[in-house]
Amino acid sequence: VASGVRTTRVRRRTTTGSVSMRTATRRAKIHEADLAEKARIAKAKANEPETLGQARTWDRKYVRYQLAGLCDVCAAQAAYGHAEGFQKIHDPCAVCQPLVNLFPTAGPKGSKWRKILDKVERFDEEQLAVWIDAH
Ligand SMILES: [Zn+2]
Repeated sequence: VASGVRTTRVRRRTTTGSVSMRTATRRAKIHEADLAEKARIAKAKANEPETLGQARTWDRKYVRYQLAGLCDVCAAQAAYGHAEGFQKIHDPCAVCQPLVNLFPTAGPKGSKWRKILDKVERFDEEQLAVWIDAH
């Protein structure tokens, strides 16, 4: 009786103990890897180059529309339009609308926006003058 109890107790402890230990370790490792992966993704998302790149793109577009003659507010709207969609932004102001009407590329249907796809912000003065004359 005494040995039977001991065997049972030992076996139970070994079986449940070792399996759950292994499982726990494995789960901990998976969890750890999962956390590490999540942290890696979060870090990559928050990473400077991407954010900075997006900011630079926005800045370039903003400058592009300023060069084209839009006011600050409308130039910013247009830059957001390129990033998030022209149907999501405010209409151009009354002052800028006539100018926007001259932009080369039509915006989304029903939108009062037209866009500039030329990289005006990268033109030198001469190219810019030619571009402005052409539009
Ligand atoms: Zn404006």
